[in-house]
Amino acid sequence: MPLISIKNYIDGQLLDPASGNYLENVNPAIGQVYSQVPNSQLDDIDAAVQSAEKAFPKWAGMAASQRAEILRRLADLIDQNRERLVTAESDDNGKPMRLARAVDIPRVSANIRFYAGLSEGFASESHAMPDGINYTLRQPLGVVGVISPWNLPLYLLSWKIAPALAIGNCVVAKPSEVTPMTAYLFSELCIEAGMPPGVLNVVHGGGATTGDAMLTHPGIKAISFTGGTETGEHIARTVAPQFKKFSLELGGKNPNVVFADCDYERTLATSLQAAFANQGQICLCGSRILVQKSLHERFVNDFVSRAKAMKVGDPHEPDSDLGAVVSQPHQQKILQCIETAQQEGGELHCGGSAITVEGRCADGFFIQPTVFTGLSNESQTNQQEIFGPVVTIQSFEDEDQAIALANGTRYGLSSSIWTSDISRGHRMAARINTGVVWINTWMVRDLRTPFGGMKSSGTGREGGQESLRFFTEPKNVFVKY
Ligand code: NDP
Repeated sequence: MPLISIKNYIDGQLLDPASGNYLENVNPAIGQVYSQVPNSQLDDIDAAVQSAEKAFPKWAGMAASQRAEILRRLADLIDQNRERLVTAESDDNGKPMRLARAVDIPRVSANIRFYAGLSEGFASESHAMPDGINYTLRQPLGVVGVISPWNLPLYLLSWKIAPALAIGNCVVAKPSEVTPMTAYLFSELCIEAGMPPGVLNVVHGGGATTGDAMLTHPGIKAISFTGGTETGEHIARTVAPQFKKFSLELGGKNPNVVFADCDYERTLATSLQAAFANQGQICLCGSRILVQKSLHERFVNDFVSRAKAMKVGDPHEPDSDLGAVVSQPHQQKILQCIETAQQEGGELHCGGSAITVEGRCADGFFIQPTVFTGLSNESQTNQQEIFGPVVTIQSFEDEDQAIALANGTRYGLSSSIWTSDISRGHRMAARINTGVVWINTWMVRDLRTPFGGMKSSGTGREGGQESLRFFTEPKNVFVKY
């Protein structure tokens, strides 16, 4: 089969990279190159920024409702093309189609509709004084840069693009080179939806080349980034001296805290999902499970037997619980982390190795759900984000010890607390250092609420008004009577 050739979307057109150079794109479930992605350079970023700058005055000058109308047309097209996008996301990333159909793609149109509506109702403040009035204008920044990761490719890209566009910015976006396909299909749908040329530009390529060219481009006024903590550090170091605005959504090592008085069945089922959904490649995955001592043994036994029963298989099969991990290098990284856990003295209860899936996926990159106990919170395994289907279970005596363990990493993205004592739930939520806390659930998102991490999990918040404020510059005007 000829390779699908992904194009950049610049100035309303689907274009080859200026250099003519492409990178290979692999389907991780079958282990084969199936498309090629532009290896864009500064020239391409430059063209994208110029077209965005040209489009900005008219786009920013439209009524919010006019922009919202175009965005809603795009959301409708996402829904109409759902199955095509589901298949593309699964083939590009390795995730089960079932997951892409239930979570990834519906969330793309939801993100777009949500911000279309929210921007129509966007308001700014006024502060009255005896002799005059202040009012605050919140104006779009101009051309903004969006850089997104491979784990929830179009979901996370649209989560940034939607607020930026809805409030009047023009965007240059770089999806991960590892999973570029749905962003390409999205570009086609933007054209079909009648998005004016230059309002959104999608430039594909590697982080160190295309991504870096965005960070240093003087025409890009802000960077909204989701990805790993090390990349986040590099971005902060590069853009801060240029006084660009930035928002960083980074890694996590999220505690899933189980008290003995929890609703056991619900806790067990959801903890399993929190551990292994998307092959453990969600920043919010509950990868450190902390269980109160009196429940620990029973929980470990039941959790392990259910983990063993999970089906790792062809992402196209409706009964596959886990698909492939995103790439061979990532598979190797996860296997290396498993080896480290064993060297650190961890007791392996299940998984621990790559697995071969028969049939069309025989050359794919699969890993069994893996569970360790017996590792201290200070171990490398409990301190570093693995971002794969690997979890540890530790035990604790009481609330104080649970808090010490939960807060005892550099990360602070999300946490879950399982208890039937609601006062304890509130007490724990107040003491835990994560930007998002769930009590008796996991990964429930209300798009109006602030989302983001503390400590090395990032700076800034997304969601609701937070994103609209990030993508605008406040300007106070005082009028004297
Ligand atoms: P990376 O940090 O490797 O990459 C993220 C994006 O940054 C990619 O588009 C990448 O490009 C790009 N990039 C890499 N290097 C540079 C650079 N020097 N300059 C500019 N851009 C660059 O993360 P992953 O894609 O591996 O994603 C996994 C990480 O994302 C995990 O740590 C996970 O926790 C985190 N994440 C955080 C979320 C949150 O909301 N807090 C949500 C989802 C994931 P390319 O891939 O093309 O190299």
